[in-house]
Amino acid sequence: MQETLSIDASTGLLVGVRQVLSPHADERPQGVLPSLLVVHGISLPAGEFGGPWIDRLFCGNLGGNLGGNLTAGSNLTGGDNSQPDFSAIAGLRVSAHAVIRRGGEISQYVPFGARAWHAGESSYQGHAACNDYSIGIELEGTDLLAYTDAQYDSLAQLIRALCAAYPTLSTGHIVGHSDIAPGRKTDPGAVFDWPRLRAMLA
Ligand SMILES: [Zn+2]
Repeated sequence: MQETLSIDASTGLLVGVRQVLSPHADERPQGVLPSLLVVHGISLPAGEFGGPWIDRLFCGNLGGNLGGNLTAGSNLTGGDNSQPDFSAIAGLRVSAHAVIRRGGEISQYVPFGARAWHAGESSYQGHAACNDYSIGIELEGTDLLAYTDAQYDSLAQLIRALCAAYPTLSTGHIVGHSDIAPGRKTDPGAVFDWPRLRAMLA
């Protein structure tokens, strides 16, 4: 992890950070700037970390032709090359602006000025459709396992960089996915240490 993260305001991209640009994104509504930060948790398959699956989900090639050693008709019974069963989610068109892996490594999928498709049906302080005006950050993890020190460090750095690049953002408007889609989403889970994040940002 580099010392200081910075964002190129003209492109909305982090400088010097791995980028895997997702087709699951579009323009924000005319004149709308990001004003909310949404923290998520994700793992693919559930409870497993590492691997190419999050990249593939966000890029729309989780199912179907995966290339590599797999071809239609391959025998998938227990071989090392078999991929997990993602049939339930393979057709989803979702993304987030960035993912922070367990080791703290950041990947960016959508420019921050654009609209990523991370929140779904959602509402914050009476304003629906949070994707329009938010930035979505995924932490690799589950609702049940503590996030890592490296992830908190990277998240705090990323939030500082975002607030510097987009004055419409503030550390007072950071929520979990579960806060804006209650009853539908539980991430980043009760294990996420909000007091710790807020102390790091103070
Ligand atoms: Zn989420």
